[in-house]
Amino acid sequence: ETSEIKKVFRQIKDNGIKQIDVRFMDFPGMWQHCSFPVLQVEEEAFEKGFGFDGSSLRGWKGISESDMLLVPDPSSAIIDPFAKYPTLIMIADIVDPVTKEYYDKDPRHIAKKAVNYLKSSGIGDTIYFGPELEFFIFGDVRYDQNSREGYYHIDSDEAIWNTGRKEKGGNKGYKIRHKQGYFPVPPTDTLQDIRTEMALIMESCGMSIEAHHHEVATAGQSELCIKYDSLVKMADKVLFYKYIVKNVAHRNGKTATFMPKPLFNDNGTGMHCHQSIWKDNKNLFAGNHYAGLSKEALWYIGGLLKHADSLVALTNPTTNSFKRLVPGFEAPIKLAYSARNRSASIRIPMYSEHENAKRIEFRTPDPTCNPYLAFSAMMLAGIDGIINKIDPGEPLDKDIYHLSSKEQSKIKNLPSSLEQSLHNLENDHDYLLRGNVFTEEVIQTWINYKMENEVRALQQRPHPYEFFLYYDV
Ligand code: GLN
Ligand code: MG
Ligand code: MG
Ligand code: MG
Repeated sequence: ETSEIKKVFRQIKDNGIKQIDVRFMDFPGMWQHCSFPVLQVEEEAFEKGFGFDGSSLRGWKGISESDMLLVPDPSSAIIDPFAKYPTLIMIADIVDPVTKEYYDKDPRHIAKKAVNYLKSSGIGDTIYFGPELEFFIFGDVRYDQNSREGYYHIDSDEAIWNTGRKEKGGNKGYKIRHKQGYFPVPPTDTLQDIRTEMALIMESCGMSIEAHHHEVATAGQSELCIKYDSLVKMADKVLFYKYIVKNVAHRNGKTATFMPKPLFNDNGTGMHCHQSIWKDNKNLFAGNHYAGLSKEALWYIGGLLKHADSLVALTNPTTNSFKRLVPGFEAPIKLAYSARNRSASIRIPMYSEHENAKRIEFRTPDPTCNPYLAFSAMMLAGIDGIINKIDPGEPLDKDIYHLSSKEQSKIKNLPSSLEQSLHNLENDHDYLLRGNVFTEEVIQTWINYKMENEVRALQQRPHPYEFFLYYDV
């Protein structure tokens, strides 16, 4: 800790840092920040923290004490790649100034408790996550100011081509065919340079990039593959990833979105999560059962499948999330596992025989999740499987999209709406309370926040498609 702090002060001096930008995650999952002049930053800031008003943050309302402290984590320091004036970013933990305790609803604190629980359970000492975040890059997105509810118009060269709308500035040809964005070379792929710019900046921020490519969808869908890391570090990196993707798009006159299903009838945006538990530098998931997995890995799968109905309320936590989980777009629809099969919600990647590479890939999550909460919840569902030796049943090595309806009906579906998944979470969340990682209050706050601000809010608004269906009835 003290050597980390010394490193921060050296970084400040060596790089002529003028501002310290302290960041934290609000409850639903957006990064927030507050900057402080570098002169204010003394060694004790890492103990005492910086004061801020925590009362107007989403999901945090109702706390009687709104004065909170941001205590920066020196090991998270990264020089802001976008700021005009030299700025050092640090991620903070939230502390109550009176009790000096960590704030219960700080998602990063929940994630730290999850890791501590893993250690105390004796099952393992480290859990690695490798999330694959996809996203769309659009050209011109306009906000309709005449509409009181706010309405976005999206234009991208590719989207216009596919929706048959008239193009401005002429047809430049070499368009991606429907669902064939994965992955012809430029000039068909128009996003090579922008992705490379993102990749180089990510690397300069300490993230290793294994590959980047256009994705399947027609209208500018992309993915940069980042190397796996341990739970809290990887959740931090997800926030840096989104920050870099959005800012590089922005400075190129474009905009990036992580919405799971921005376009009807094209591939959606997932955040497949590769995961494995390790103990004493040994991968606990490697073994000699199905697809080279261990018993523990199979039980972990059993836990994920058993609790998936409620888990998706945290891994796919938006109304839009469920528009992605439909047949035909490489997104999972059924609760099943399989080596290779991309229509199942859990896949066991077979690229490498190496024991260290053995892992499971949960394909259901999408990047609208709060990574601290989603990673913690997946781990707890899996651990529940290990503790109770939950048998995942037989693997399903068939393309689920093309099964007969009789065969289909034998496999459990994922929930079809956020509302349904929140009801499921209400009824099944004991596995999340283990080790006091999630508290009853955190679960209830999540359910109420999502119901009121998203589920009900959407239900009360007329949808554009309702005009198509009903206007002339
Ligand atoms: N976009 C797909 C999804 O929604 C995944 C495509 C892929 O990476 N194979 O999960
Ligand atoms: Mg990928
Ligand atoms: Mg992908
Ligand atoms: Mg994948």
